[in-house]
Amino acid sequence: MISIRNVSKWYGQFQVLTDCSTEIRKGEVVVVCGPSGSGKSTLIKCVNGLEPFQQGDIDVNGTSIANPKTNLPKLRSHVGMVFQHFELFPHMTITDNLTIAQIKVLGRSKEEARAKGLKLLDRVGLKAHADKHPGQLSGGQQQRVAIARALSMDPICMLFDEPTSALDPEMINEVLDVMVELAQEGMTMMCVTHEMGFARKVANRVIFMDQGKIVEDAGKEEFFGTPRSERAQQFLSKIL
Ligand code: ADP
Ligand code: MG
Repeated sequence: MISIRNVSKWYGQFQVLTDCSTEIRKGEVVVVCGPSGSGKSTLIKCVNGLEPFQQGDIDVNGTSIANPKTNLPKLRSHVGMVFQHFELFPHMTITDNLTIAQIKVLGRSKEEARAKGLKLLDRVGLKAHADKHPGQLSGGQQQRVAIARALSMDPICMLFDEPTSALDPEMINEVLDVMVELAQEGMTMMCVTHEMGFARKVANRVIFMDQGKIVEDAGKEEFFGTPRSERAQQFLSKIL
């Protein structure tokens, strides 16, 4: 589903990604972790073409990101992305947040989009909040709306960039529960997260990045067991 091949990227003189390669098969859940500044967000943004890269290529469901002929907005409409800061439209109701892209990008009718949005809102346990604005919801609730919004586009895969790091501790699980459910239903997921409980529960593989490089790409059992790279061990000992 996602094939990252020898991707390197520079910001000016600074090399932010060095020769990154990995594959994520359909239905796989891959957790990406590593120290702050190691390039995790940059890599995940490269996957849906939000950041250009100078070397290598990424295929998403057979479409090359580096190919200048690729219609990136069209591809992005099929790749769900959930950020640390929910990025809901603050001036719109929850329902409008859930329907606008379905209507404008996918050309669905208002009724169809609304039905789909409300179904997904119900699924994340927030049906009663349909007519509120994002500011009236807690951080955990807003993030669940953001996930529902991404799902409303019928994504072929989902990318998460630290979806729980901006949340108060008591709200983390309500978001992780939704992600676990998605994983168990077979969604292909690439998740930047330091929630190792989530990784242990549903990840097929764990990727560890350091200084722009993928230094570990291992099955979950192998990653959490021994042996693993010293840098990953140090990192894990600090966050576990
Ligand atoms: P992570 O998500 O692992 O914390 P990032 O991908 O956000 O790391 O950033 C990796 C490195 O690239 C950091 O050193 C960061 O300062 C740098 N960086 C990120 N965005 C930019 C940018 N737009 N211009 C220059 N440097 C950047
Ligand atoms: Mg980041």
